[in-house]
Amino acid sequence: MQITLLRNLVQEMAGEGSGQIVDILFDKRDINEFLIAKKMNLTINQVRNILYKLSAEGLVSFTRKKDKRKGWYIYFWTLNTEKCLMKLEVELTKKLEELKQAQKQREYGRYYTCKNCNIEVTEEKALEDDFSCSECAEVYTLVDNTNNLKELKGKITKRENELNEIKQELESVRVKTKKVTDAAQKKLAAKKSKGKKAKGKSSKAKKVTKPKKTKQKK
Ligand SMILES: [Zn+2]
Repeated sequence: MQITLLRNLVQEMAGEGSGQIVDILFDKRDINEFLIAKKMNLTINQVRNILYKLSAEGLVSFTRKKDKRKGWYIYFWTLNTEKCLMKLEVELTKKLEELKQAQKQREYGRYYTCKNCNIEVTEEKALEDDFSCSECAEVYTLVDNTNNLKELKGKITKRENELNEIKQELESVRVKTKKVTDAAQKKLAAKKSKGKKAKGKSSKAKKVTKPKKTKQKK
């Protein structure tokens, strides 16, 4: 699992320092929010703030239980791995497209630089400036794109690998989820047919007792 990517995603959604929550919730279910707060060294309200933001994006889900002694609700949180991976897939695809766009521009476009000001301009801007810097009047020099392209290529390969891994993980999570849902549905179906039988019995029993009571009252 791409834990680092997940951490970054959470941080993007819920703010700096929230990524640690991934390590606490990952591969577990129904984690008590007080435990999360303790582990993250945050107040319960700070933790809830993070979790509500993630919940709004569908990245976490909760169940709640009433604390009988204190009378308030305690929330138990679970990371929605499939949703997280889907979100990562979308984000990575977008980033990859941006990188490929930038690569195209570097491959086919010309860029100029002013060595004094350490700035870079497009060919269009250089033409506009008559090929001398608008700040210091130094003549622009043509940028060698070799290093830029090399760097972009590396970034693209990295993102492509990440995206492939995410896709594979998503696939295996979906297979797992399907198995769990199928099993749960079978269980539910079995329970329902049992419940029907039990209900039938109890309603028969009621019918027998009711007429007796009415007779007594009369
Ligand atoms: Zn300049």
